[in-house]
Amino acid sequence: MTVARRARFASPGPAGTGATRFSPEIGSAAEAACGRVILLGAGPGDPELITLRGLRWLRQADVVVYDQLVSPELLDEAPPRALRVFAGKSAGRHCLAQSVINGLLVEHAGAGRLVVRLKGGDPFVFGRGGEEALACLAAGIPVEVVPGVSSAIAAAGAAGIPLTHRGLSSSFAVVTGHEDSSKSATVEWERLAGAVDTLVVLMGVGALRAITRRLAAGGRDPSTPAAVIRRATTRDQECVIGTLADIAARAAHLRPPAVIVVGEVVRFAGLPRPGADALANRSDPELEPTSRPTGSGTLATPSIREGTLRVV
Ligand code: SAH
Repeated sequence: MTVARRARFASPGPAGTGATRFSPEIGSAAEAACGRVILLGAGPGDPELITLRGLRWLRQADVVVYDQLVSPELLDEAPPRALRVFAGKSAGRHCLAQSVINGLLVEHAGAGRLVVRLKGGDPFVFGRGGEEALACLAAGIPVEVVPGVSSAIAAAGAAGIPLTHRGLSSSFAVVTGHEDSSKSATVEWERLAGAVDTLVVLMGVGALRAITRRLAAGGRDPSTPAAVIRRATTRDQECVIGTLADIAARAAHLRPPAVIVVGEVVRFAGLPRPGADALANRSDPELEPTSRPTGSGTLATPSIREGTLRVV
């Protein structure tokens, strides 16, 4: 009880650091009795890409506050009694204002409930997770952060594109293509153009033409390969390949959510995707996925296999 009462803002740290860690403590009666907020990364789409730690917390939840990009299969993992609150946001439209979401977290946790704030990908990658954590801490609510597999990393991998590759790419940067016009911070596309080998852009579908023009203006070769990967790691995955010069036209039909990847490594698109062939062919039951959440059998590895790789 005393541990849980202590306000903290910790990601799972190495054992012995005093930070939270993967331990039998999770789900114990003492932990369950105290209100808290778990800022939990749900992964990029495939429900099997949540972490073990995340799944354990989710199965203990009293309240799940979830976002648009969270797989519905994951919601089934919460106890049936758990209150499920949709806090989804889609382009240009916020279903719940951020202040209302913050208030919900504080209110439920303050009443002694275990609140899982389930966010697509990683909670601290363009997810406003930091704002939610700070709001909870300001109200004296303990917070634990459970990192997730971000689409910033996973989308390229799911399309068979390595973000780094010896001799071809030794750096990558992740940037937003959707800037908050009320903020002064801006992405310096022209400077970025030559500063990193591989560029990963989230929330950039609407501004794709402007982004590619600015990268070219910054000196990036217009023939640089580029890809747009939509709904990565789900059965609806779609990938359009082109160059910096023509990707905006080729991918004009794609709607969010999608990740844009620019760089020589895009030439690898279509490499065996993680988990696809290797998992499909294996026969050792020891190697079978153990955490298939709902037994639906339609997602996880098959979802990656079934994802269409559309090379135009
Ligand atoms: N916290 C999230 C990102 C939230 S911002 C993460 O770590 O993944 C939302 C943006 O993420 C979308 O506009 C899109 O650019 C990207 N995104 C999230 N899930 C995606 C998916 N499955 N496929 C492609 N892009 C995705």
